[in-house]
Amino acid sequence: MPEDMIPVTRGTLMGFCCSPENECFNNCCRDLHQTLTPYDILRLRKNLGMKSQPFLKKYTSLHFGPKSGLPVLEFKSNPATGHACPFVTHEGCSVYNDRPVSCRMYPLARAIARSRETGRVSEFFALIEEPHCKGFCKKTDLTVEKWLEGQDVQNHNEQNDKLMTLISLKNRILPGKLEGAQADIFYLGLYDLDEFRLQIFNKKLLESIKVPDTVLEKILTDDEALLDFGISWVRFMLFGIQM
Ligand code: SF4
Ligand code: SF4
Repeated sequence: MPEDMIPVTRGTLMGFCCSPENECFNNCCRDLHQTLTPYDILRLRKNLGMKSQPFLKKYTSLHFGPKSGLPVLEFKSNPATGHACPFVTHEGCSVYNDRPVSCRMYPLARAIARSRETGRVSEFFALIEEPHCKGFCKKTDLTVEKWLEGQDVQNHNEQNDKLMTLISLKNRILPGKLEGAQADIFYLGLYDLDEFRLQIFNKKLLESIKVPDTVLEKILTDDEALLDFGISWVRFMLFGIQM
């Protein structure tokens, strides 16, 4: 673990206070290289009332992991703004209710491990103490548990844990670099959800797969259900695991 990361548990006192009064207010929203999860993108584009492709084009940059070949999406970097997040304003975050999980968690980091025998998920937390963040000067009785409750992070963590499970499956079954077409399947089923829906309903993407009508009805309008379905579709297409 890097030196500026301190292992903590849910019961640890954080001694941390983030507020507009802090001299560092908004500093953590600049000089970003922030990875966005599929659920981050879903929430952000819905907040802005945008379809997937215009959102992805305007706000994200895409590269592929050099060893895994997996698509990695980040906020598009703009040197003219000091690589600031496109959603930071003088008053703070303009998409606060739908901000990404890493913004909710900061200055905490969370990792998970899933037992192969029981499927049980274990969580691990660490505090990231970076010089630009002055929130650590303040003394509070805030525990890690209370901090997490205040950040409304449960939905993000549940969705992102499904992604982590998919990635660890990929690492086990296809440990090398994904081919272009395989990476495209990942991108379509997880990130480009409106195009995924279009291909399902208008281009017969699922022609050779039997999907119950109740599922089709749900994913026609429900983006979170479509993302869940996308994860199952990727598992089927890349690893042959039945949906
Ligand atoms: S989404 Fe909001 S909280 Fe996150 S970096 Fe951008 S402005 Fe900051
Ligand atoms: S740098 Fe730290 S204390 Fe300052 S606004 Fe960001 S999270 Fe809060």
